[in-house]
Amino acid sequence: MTQQSNNIQQFLIVGGGTAGWLAVATLSNILQNADCQITLVESNDIGTIGVGEATIPPLLDAIRALGIDEADFIRKTQATFKWGIQFRDWLQKGSDYFHPFGALGRRIDGHEFYQVWLKCRAEGDNTPLMAHSVEAELCTQQRFFEPFNAANTPLASAQYALHLDSGLVANYLRDFAIARGVQRIEGTVSQVHQHQNGDIASVSLIDGQQLSAQFFIDCSGFRGLLIEQTLNAGYHDWSAYLPCNRAVTVQSQNVHDALPYTIATARESGWTWQIPLQHRTGNGYVFCDQFCDDQTATDTLLNAVEGEVISTPRIIPFTTGMRKQCWFKNCLALGLAQGFLEPLESTAIHLVSKTLALFVRYFPSLSDNQFLQQEFNRKVELDYLEIRDFLILHYCTTKRSDTAFWQHCANMPIPDSLQYKIELFKQAGNLVHQDEALFQSSSWYAIFTGMQVFPQRYNPTLDALNSQKLQQSLAAGANAIKQAVSKQPAHMEFIRQYCAAP
Ligand code: FAD
Repeated sequence: MTQQSNNIQQFLIVGGGTAGWLAVATLSNILQNADCQITLVESNDIGTIGVGEATIPPLLDAIRALGIDEADFIRKTQATFKWGIQFRDWLQKGSDYFHPFGALGRRIDGHEFYQVWLKCRAEGDNTPLMAHSVEAELCTQQRFFEPFNAANTPLASAQYALHLDSGLVANYLRDFAIARGVQRIEGTVSQVHQHQNGDIASVSLIDGQQLSAQFFIDCSGFRGLLIEQTLNAGYHDWSAYLPCNRAVTVQSQNVHDALPYTIATARESGWTWQIPLQHRTGNGYVFCDQFCDDQTATDTLLNAVEGEVISTPRIIPFTTGMRKQCWFKNCLALGLAQGFLEPLESTAIHLVSKTLALFVRYFPSLSDNQFLQQEFNRKVELDYLEIRDFLILHYCTTKRSDTAFWQHCANMPIPDSLQYKIELFKQAGNLVHQDEALFQSSSWYAIFTGMQVFPQRYNPTLDALNSQKLQQSLAAGANAIKQAVSKQPAHMEFIRQYCAAP
């Protein structure tokens, strides 16, 4: 028997939200010359979740890897650019800080930039850390440029992501996948059939059609039709660490030019988001029902919205956590069927594309997949744990005590893994480095600094350096960023020109 005859030849994807269409786009691209039938079934009656509009930079890498033209994608998804997230009122009411995507400053004489900044700070230099972030300055001045044109300039480290219309993204990926031979079936799955060993054999639709396959990808959303309702893979529930469990969302008209960043404002019992697109703004309030009812949450959101509201408020319940096994038997769970970490750092769609990249790396065959599956599940769990800890950091470091929710956040138990990261950082500014981590050092520094968590001391090897020279070097770096940013086009002006091009 040849190796080829063990290859999977039929995939069935259940669900046509962002996860489903990203899955078929990826599979149809990677398997374009293989003898493999990829079918997606989606239900118009059930529809999609219809939120998920802020992203992080790796999503653009995934889009480019598919060979999609970025300008075309931006035009058709009404996207705007995003340099990071502004957090308002998280530390205390009236405070704000910025989380940029790219690196902060450059190494100086072989020393980490953050350590240099710490030393200068200890010696009285009050320049904020974000004076050394290209993205923070771009947001202050509301500018945009394409970083790949900026090699060897003070702006070279900049990284961007997109705000986009999730419905238009699903349509875009659907057209992409169908053009590559993917079969789309509209219908509602009413029954799932299993082989004797528990593997999934086929699904039946309400209209009586039966669809069989060798491997299934569950993109059915929170319900987890295959992975949970059929295979009972189990769920790690992390609500004790991340208490928010509901969201209310509305769309509104734009009242000013779209900002090149997401705004996340802490509220009485959670936080609201503001995501500017070209044609409208997405708004939502993520809250905890232990402290706030749906009506109060809706009123809070509607009071916070700037422009005229153009959709009916929608309540979305969720449970923070993830499937105990994301690849279980002959089924991969993806998107909301796989797990959910609240959208504070816009990581959900990224987790879909990261999971798909791992799935391609540990691709199954019809023979024994035990170790591939084990390693794949371990890696996906590591990704979730990393993001989970990072999200908790935003809450547990608050100094707010004005509402029961914030008192709870300031005193709730945190995982040992995060406790360790915080204690390590507090000693001398060190971080735990994880292979293939999503959040690099600058992200952790941004949140720690924004929440006023500072190390007791800097690395003593810096004492050999001349303080005055260091301070001059930092000031020159910050000034160079400011000057270079001021020469870039306004964000919306850039988009208008970019999208006007054929
Ligand atoms: P869905 O969009 O729910 O799609 C499920 C699909 O399964 C649909 O096509 C449905 O018709 C189909 N289906 C279900 N049952 C059946 C059945 N029986 N038969 C046939 N088909 C069926 N992500 C980000 O990256 N950034 C964000 O800013 C962000 N914000 C979010 C805010 C909130 C409040 C929530 C809840 C999520 C947010 N997300 C965000 C996550 C993002 O929305 C999802 O990860 C993304 O949309 C993928 O969803 P999905 O495709 O898994 O599920």
